[in-house]
Amino acid sequence: MISLIEDLYPICRSIMGPGTRSTLDRIASEIPITREGVASGTQVLDWIVPDEWEVRDAYIAREGSDERLVDFRASNLHVVSHSVAVDAVVDRDELDEHLHSLPDRPDAVPYRTSYYSPTWGFCVSHDQRAALPAGDYHVVIDSTLAPGRLEWGELLIPGEIDREMLITTHICHPSLVNDNLSGIAALVEVGRWLASVNRRYSYRLLFLPGTIGSISWLAQATSIQRIDHGLVITGLGDPSGFTYKRSRRGHRDIDRIAAEVLRHVEGSRVVDFSPYGYDERQFCSPGFDLPVGRLTRGVHGEYPEYHTSADDFDFFSGHQLDTAVDLLVDVVDAVEANRTYRNTSPYGEVQLGRRGLYRSTGGAIDSQAVEMAYLWVLNASDGTTDLCDIAHQSGLRPAVISEAVRRLVEADLLEIA
Ligand code: ZN
Repeated sequence: MISLIEDLYPICRSIMGPGTRSTLDRIASEIPITREGVASGTQVLDWIVPDEWEVRDAYIAREGSDERLVDFRASNLHVVSHSVAVDAVVDRDELDEHLHSLPDRPDAVPYRTSYYSPTWGFCVSHDQRAALPAGDYHVVIDSTLAPGRLEWGELLIPGEIDREMLITTHICHPSLVNDNLSGIAALVEVGRWLASVNRRYSYRLLFLPGTIGSISWLAQATSIQRIDHGLVITGLGDPSGFTYKRSRRGHRDIDRIAAEVLRHVEGSRVVDFSPYGYDERQFCSPGFDLPVGRLTRGVHGEYPEYHTSADDFDFFSGHQLDTAVDLLVDVVDAVEANRTYRNTSPYGEVQLGRRGLYRSTGGAIDSQAVEMAYLWVLNASDGTTDLCDIAHQSGLRPAVISEAVRRLVEADLLEIA
């Protein structure tokens, strides 16, 4: 995952254009995504796909000097994404109207976009902005906005049934590590794992340009009715604990399952849906109203590194990303396991001892906890209570409940209701 992130970091991504295309190329070298897309000018739901943006060079210099004071080659964050071309001499006041900086974080360069209104601009640290003296400046942005194609990557991993779990991440940010390269790397890793194991559900992975990408996908998708569970993932490598954001209705299976898994992970929190954030806004728009939640660590806008040059390799930790992938695996396992069973011997307690169900288990699963789970599962499995509810009632980890169920099924004490 780290080498993928290192390869992707220097690429100047936006919602469309060569940077996004080479990002999808790099992802395709890891997992077999297909490339889908729509042309500029296409109406997608209430939106119109904009022109493609390509930037080759950009800088600010004092008029008459070759020395670049602000240089796109040093960081692609210096140019406002989708800036129109400019080659002009401007005075200090006019230059200032096109500069973006963060007074409360004066050493960081902000990330700014202008996809839908034609303008140009530079992002600089506030310290650098304050140090620019009066005088004339030569500003150059060598860019093109022209009709092209919005593209995304899609991978369907078929399972035993055609009901689907959707997992998506955005791919449109330039040199920012946590938001959004950590999400890309985690989704690639989860995709590799899903392809290597037998699964009941089918899994659809989407690598989407933010907002316009998910809207374009939703506008053409024929699989929406098959989505039983979904997650938008990003921001998984920062120092914070996990945050799960519920889907619009707040009590869909994915919401209950994610909450049960996270209950056992220290420092985690579960928050209600709000119509602000990442692509869950589109999946949870009222017309679609899909069971799609969001998993991040820190929440966008709540950490000072967010959307600035400080979202770099110092802010990110490979260990945090690893444990995020482990958590995603736990959530998928719990989704797979969450069924409703019936106790086949419901009159009186089952005599577990004579069925060889008390044995040391070893490994990660605590045998005492599994023995407690036998009692909970057998008592609660009356044909109406699913495993997620049993995990909730018992306070036991979903993985412990699943292991107990596996053994009780093997002993013919449980059947699918
Ligand atoms: Zn972002």
